[in-house]
Amino acid sequence: MSGRVVTSLTNPTVKAVRALHQRKEREETGLFVAEGLKIVTEAVELGQAPTILMYGKEADGHPLLRQAIAATLKAKGEVIEVTQDILAKVSRRDNPQAVVGVFRQVFQPLAKVDPKSATCWVGLHRVRDPGNLGTIVRTADAAGCGGVILVGECCDPYSVEAVRATMGSIFAVPIIKADEAEFAAWRKSWPGSVVGTLLTATSDHLSAPYRKPNLVLMGNEQQGLTPDLAALCDVNVKIPMRGRADSLNLSVATGIMIYAATA
Ligand code: SAM
Repeated sequence: MSGRVVTSLTNPTVKAVRALHQRKEREETGLFVAEGLKIVTEAVELGQAPTILMYGKEADGHPLLRQAIAATLKAKGEVIEVTQDILAKVSRRDNPQAVVGVFRQVFQPLAKVDPKSATCWVGLHRVRDPGNLGTIVRTADAAGCGGVILVGECCDPYSVEAVRATMGSIFAVPIIKADEAEFAAWRKSWPGSVVGTLLTATSDHLSAPYRKPNLVLMGNEQQGLTPDLAALCDVNVKIPMRGRADSLNLSVATGIMIYAATA
């Protein structure tokens, strides 16, 4: 469709896209990779055109691909048709998606957050697992949350693994970054409840007082919510653990909290 078919792994565009698997490269370029025609289409519909669009023969001629190509070229991006082998190397998968897009990362500052624009926001302290982070962004989108605030040193929401787990919600949910001190200062002006989640809390997550907009604060996978962060919350709650498991997976706990806080 573009008239240009790339077959070599040493092609500079192919090398640049593959390099985006490295966090350092993503941070330096401000770019990231999203795979699949559905997700690329989602981005285009939300007004974010790819800077690079790669596709394999399999996708050629698909009306949504034509639309994505038009949006990429209009935004002065690059479009290349590539071999299955290149798609597999770019995705690091044997069965790669037939369409891969490169997009600009978007991080919002805390100052841009309008708390009252949504009933629930999610704060994640030092989240480590990209699959958890991506799943939480997807759940936040599904529940209509205002955004996901990454507090402290977190894994990269724009890694290939995290973006995959968002299933396209990475383009719909604002991602905000703040260090602990910034968050502690900013939180003072929060107009609703800041709800911490602690395994040692005595309040049940369903009976705790919630005042919208709620900011649900989740802890790290290993250490949980630190005492400093828990002390910043209006209330700390626990989801009952009725069996032998001592805690829930972070993304599962976040989903339960989001739906309790938006009810
Ligand atoms: N060992 C950690 C601890 O002691 O907190 C476990 C952390 S847990 C795997 C990760 C995060 O998920 C927690 O910080 C909390 O935010 C949330 N979480 C998991 N189970 C929970 C529960 N039963 N009630 C409330 N939050 C929970």
